[in-house]
Amino acid sequence: MSASTPPTHPDAPTPEGARAPEPEGTPTPTPAPAREAAPTAAPEATAEDAPVGQGAHLGQSLGEGAHASLPTLLVKIFGKDRPGITAGLFDTLAAYSVDVIDIEQVVTRGRIVLCALVTAPPAGMEGDLRATVHSWAESVKLQAEIISGRGDNRPRGLGRSLVTVLGHPLKAESTAAIAARITGTGGNIDRIFRLAKYPVTAVEFAVSGTETEPLRTALATEAHALGVDVAVVAAGLHRRAQRLVVMDVDSTLIQDEVIELFAAHAGCEEEVAAVTTAAMRGELDFEESLHARVALLKGLDVSSVDKVRTEVRLTPGARTLIRTLKRLGYQVGVVSGGFTQVTDDLKERLGLDFAHANTLEIVDGKLTGRVTGEIVDRAGKARLLRRFAAEAGVPLEQTVAIGDGANDLDMLNAAGLGVAFNAKPMVREAAHTAVNVPFLDTVLYLLGITREEVEAADMHLDHD
Ligand SMILES: [Mg+2]
Repeated sequence: MSASTPPTHPDAPTPEGARAPEPEGTPTPTPAPAREAAPTAAPEATAEDAPVGQGAHLGQSLGEGAHASLPTLLVKIFGKDRPGITAGLFDTLAAYSVDVIDIEQVVTRGRIVLCALVTAPPAGMEGDLRATVHSWAESVKLQAEIISGRGDNRPRGLGRSLVTVLGHPLKAESTAAIAARITGTGGNIDRIFRLAKYPVTAVEFAVSGTETEPLRTALATEAHALGVDVAVVAAGLHRRAQRLVVMDVDSTLIQDEVIELFAAHAGCEEEVAAVTTAAMRGELDFEESLHARVALLKGLDVSSVDKVRTEVRLTPGARTLIRTLKRLGYQVGVVSGGFTQVTDDLKERLGLDFAHANTLEIVDGKLTGRVTGEIVDRAGKARLLRRFAAEAGVPLEQTVAIGDGANDLDMLNAAGLGVAFNAKPMVREAAHTAVNVPFLDTVLYLLGITREEVEAADMHLDHD
């Protein structure tokens, strides 16, 4: 059995703080004291012009409407990262009794950018606060910028999407084109962070102000032209919900077409391969082609089943994908137009929750050239996705389907997220999302799981 799991990530994990926190919106304001809304302040008013007393600050400044115009300070710190910066900044600010409205921090290659949005200090104190923060920053060799303003962050536009870009490598011109296309659809990029640098560079853009579907359509065209993979999903709580992942087997979970492995033992691989290729292109009815190919195996000794099981090569990243999904509480299944003689073995070896395929009929130690039971074809795969989802108690919109062939299309479209994996063009174009790098674990990034999280999980649990 060839080892198919990619090598362990060679680099050290990204420093703590490299991933900025998810925006959670403004906290619910505490009821402000009964008080008339402050007269609308002049647009250019400085902090000194707005004598908002302590106590009224927090509840009012976090609220909507008139409260949004209360004076605030944006404090930005930039420089070489080292322990104690965050504590140092807020310790300095604490002397001025300001309240924290927002904090964002990112560390890239050892450089920290820390932004704190705080309420303005009591009247007359801003100058002193500025001097003290600059003095502290200089003492720890950092740069500080303090900008007076009003209110909280501008509210994000309606329509929230997450755009994952996979590049191998990710080129500057591709990034520029994707960003321009997002802007072109009316979207605003609110946040960007790296999900992974191995085995591909994966970056996630949080976008607001545009609907998911037109954004997906616009970016799919751009991605194909650029040679990168782009997935667009609606942002929201459902993305974090427990889900079910259902995969095709041949040329998805494994690198092989199982019937071709059998055909090699039966000495009819060329005839079988020709039929398989045509079927995958959608040129042949799947059931007819299945019967035609299986018929060519008639008389093959049952010992070939064990041989084929040992010949199957998992797709790179398959073990990582399944192991990580299982640890995250996902249920994982396979559906195959191939054969239970192989999928049952994969189910046991990989710890899958569900597996369904066609069954080769075996009589007196020989393949009869027939299959038994209900045929798993294009419609059958979608039916099985629904059945697995029902058994797993997972709504269909929280399922993910992965496949490469024409007979996977119904399943891909029925799932909440359908991923065409190194698929034929007609499949790629019809699916929600396409992955065109040969690493199955890149699907994790489409689910918002970072490489760092994958590796952290591996460090705490035994490898399989
Ligand atoms: Mg396939």
